[in-house]
Amino acid sequence: MKTETKNKLNQLTRLTALIALYTIVGATGQAQADLKEVNGCAQSTTKINEIATTVDHDWADFEKFIEDETGLNIKGCMQNRFQDNGKIDCESSSGGTCSGANGWASYLSHTAHFCPTFVNRVRALTGDSNKKACYLALMTHEFGHTCWRGHGTVEDIDDAAFKYAKKTLPGVTIDMIDCGMD
Ligand SMILES: [Zn+2]
Repeated sequence: MKTETKNKLNQLTRLTALIALYTIVGATGQAQADLKEVNGCAQSTTKINEIATTVDHDWADFEKFIEDETGLNIKGCMQNRFQDNGKIDCESSSGGTCSGANGWASYLSHTAHFCPTFVNRVRALTGDSNKKACYLALMTHEFGHTCWRGHGTVEDIDDAAFKYAKKTLPGVTIDMIDCGMD
C-alpha cells in the first residue's frame, strides 16, 4: 500500500474513533440533562431539581416501581420529562387555573405548573425528604397530564411516586394528604 494512502486511512480511523467518542459523551450528556427548567420556585428550586435528578439517574428503578404499582406503561413521554425536556413553573397567582388546585398542566406541553397553595404548604413541612416526596408526587401527576393521561390514571401514578419517595428517600415521615394531595 502506498504510504500516502496508508496515512489517509490512519487519519480516517482516528477521525472515526473521535466521532464515536463524541457520540458516547453526547448520549451520556443527554441522559443526565434532568429537568430543562425550574421557573419562579424561589427557595424550592434546589429541592425540586434534586428530586427530579434522583429519579432521572435511577430511572429504570423508578419506572419499574411505578409500572408494578399501577400496571401502566410510563416510559417514553414521562422519561423524556424527567431526563430531557420537563419544566416546572411555580405560579405566582392562586387565581385562574390555580384556583382550588395544587397544580395544572396542558396536554402536549412539557410544563408542570405548581400553584402557590401547594408550594406554600410544602415549604411549611419539616424535613427535605418530606418536601421532595410532595414535589415528586405533584411533578409526576402533572407530567402525566402532559403525556395525555387523564384523571383516574395520573392519581395512580402520583400515589405510586409518593410511595417510591417513601421507599427510597431517608426520613419521609408524612403521608400524601400532608402534601395537600390525596
Ligand atoms: Zn390533575
